[in-house]
Amino acid sequence: MKTILNTFDAGHREWRCTCCNKLLGLRSGSVVLVQFARGHQYRAPRPVSAVCRSCKTLNET
Ligand SMILES: [Zn+2]
Repeated sequence: MKTILNTFDAGHREWRCTCCNKLLGLRSGSVVLVQFARGHQYRAPRPVSAVCRSCKTLNET
C-alpha cells in the first residue's frame, strides 16, 4: 500500500510532544505528516499546531 510517507525524503525528523515526548508526527522541511491510529494520514504545510493525545499539551512546529 502506498502511503504519504513514501513521498518524504530520508531527511525527515520526528515531531514529538514538548511535554511527554510522545510522537506527534514527522516533519520534512516545511511539511508535516501526521498519522492517526486508524490509518488516516494528513500532510500539511507548517506551521502546524496539535494537542497531544496523551498529556493535552499544545505543540507547534
Ligand atoms: Zn504530550
